[in-house]
Amino acid sequence: MPLPPWPPSLSQAQLEELTLQATTYALANSLLFLPPHSESSKHPSPAPASADHAPFALFPTPFPRHLFEHAMKLQRIYNVLYTRIASDEDFLDSIFSADVGMGKVDNFVGTLWRIWKDVRTEGLIQPLQLGIFRSDYLLHDEGGGEMTIKQVEFNTIASAAGALSQATDGLHRYLLACTEYFHGSDILKASNLATNDTLVQVVKGLVVAHQAYLQFGAVGSSPVLGASSNGTKRVPRILFVVQPNERNIFDQKPLEYALLMHHGIHVVRRRLDQLASARISERDGRRLYVKDQDSCDRDGVDEDQDDGWEISVIYFRAGYTPTDYPTPAHFETRKLLERSRAIKCPPIALQLAGSKKIQAVLSDPGVVESFLLRAPKLCRNAREKQSGSVGDHVFTVRDVEELRASWMEMYSLDTPNAITRTLSQHMDMVLKPQREGGGNNVYKAHIPSFLEGLDEKEREAWIAMRLIRAPVGVRNWLVRSGRENTLANVVSELGTFGWALFTHTQTSLPSSIKLQEESGGYLLRTKGVESDEGGLATGFSVLDSALLV
Ligand code: ADP
Ligand code: MG
Ligand code: MG
Repeated sequence: MPLPPWPPSLSQAQLEELTLQATTYALANSLLFLPPHSESSKHPSPAPASADHAPFALFPTPFPRHLFEHAMKLQRIYNVLYTRIASDEDFLDSIFSADVGMGKVDNFVGTLWRIWKDVRTEGLIQPLQLGIFRSDYLLHDEGGGEMTIKQVEFNTIASAAGALSQATDGLHRYLLACTEYFHGSDILKASNLATNDTLVQVVKGLVVAHQAYLQFGAVGSSPVLGASSNGTKRVPRILFVVQPNERNIFDQKPLEYALLMHHGIHVVRRRLDQLASARISERDGRRLYVKDQDSCDRDGVDEDQDDGWEISVIYFRAGYTPTDYPTPAHFETRKLLERSRAIKCPPIALQLAGSKKIQAVLSDPGVVESFLLRAPKLCRNAREKQSGSVGDHVFTVRDVEELRASWMEMYSLDTPNAITRTLSQHMDMVLKPQREGGGNNVYKAHIPSFLEGLDEKEREAWIAMRLIRAPVGVRNWLVRSGRENTLANVVSELGTFGWALFTHTQTSLPSSIKLQEESGGYLLRTKGVESDEGGLATGFSVLDSALLV
């Protein structure tokens, strides 16, 4: 079914009025970014005094209802698939090892793999793990008027924009409720807006993990509540690991507010460099303690001898890109966090599982089948038990066919004929390294010269992917702070969210701990058709909502 003509027409006066309503709503409802950080600022972390509204689409964008629902359904399979991949040490080692795998040529991947290897050799102390996922799709024109969804990538670390996405849903519902201009279209009604509870879902994953930590804390040596050395009992807190000068804090702070105000859970927010002073209590089951901010800021001073806050869950909103680790000490800190008893979201194994290389390997014959159609594989010391991955879901051949039908052709650049194959069709291809956060890919006409400069060894760290051909013809108004609105031909990228509390082993889990996964929530990012990339933070796309048609 073709998408309807879009957007409804507006007079100049209507456009101005609607923009005023929309931007003031955005400013009033946390649909915001901090302004770019200024190096000249006198204080290292000044309290922000202003913010810009985030970029958004003035109208929600039509999206085929059956394909939206299909993406939501696939998310359940992905939640389990990625927990199983993250639990299969041999599989991940064969790909990422710094001795025989990609870790040899990609330093960043190799360093993360080594940390994971060291921590495994010592013994993982926390069997529970948390994944918060976002699977991204573009609509794909199959030709002959048929449309499908195709997966762009699967994110397992810092899956962002849950809060901003839910706020965008609020924006479009408000505009529908308060303006008459929207009524120029039959399909533009609140009942056609997709439900967006992404913030609630992400928070739920964190809460479930936090509660499981409290229960699991009772197993083994110590009491449920963290006890500081000065004798006060303190309830553990969730740690958010964040980037310096983060502009996207209005996507993170609402999670903190919900955790505290709806669930009574405090959050400790730290950069990796601030966590160098975090401490693991070796005698006490490797509990992780993070100092109060004022004692972290006073170098080496530990006046009150306080342990700081015990940490239940480490939620990484940083740590996915090499620039997050400017010194070896930053990697040491990551290792300290990984060794600890806190539940990691994600653990390194799951971070590695989310790389583009895994996406390519899964598409090789038999690989995804080996994860979904057989009993889950567990790590070496628990293999006999065979049931520790989240849920003992049984998948069908049809489930696997549906996953495969949502994939574009993908292969590693070190496979036979990969270079000739890519060069002969480069205008239809994108090359991707094992990186996150946007801006790392090589597209179309840039591919031949890029491949010339890539030596044979380096090819192992890159994958090739056929370009998804999004249908054209839908337009929307893009509203960006401080800029004229533009009416652009657009393409929308749908992200579906899910989370899973899972384990790589079956040992010593109290029966009260329920391993679980859930899907829910979505992100729609809309960009001009001429742009290859699609990030929000990188400025290519705007926040949007799905109008189901
Ligand atoms: P990152 O992890 O950096 O976000 P992605 O794989 O999502 O990397 O690529 C960034 C952007 O590039 C996507 O948001 C999408 O707009 C575009 N892109 C990636 N792969 C494809 C593809 N196969 N076809 C079309 N566009 C793509
Ligand atoms: Mg992406
Ligand atoms: Mg990504």
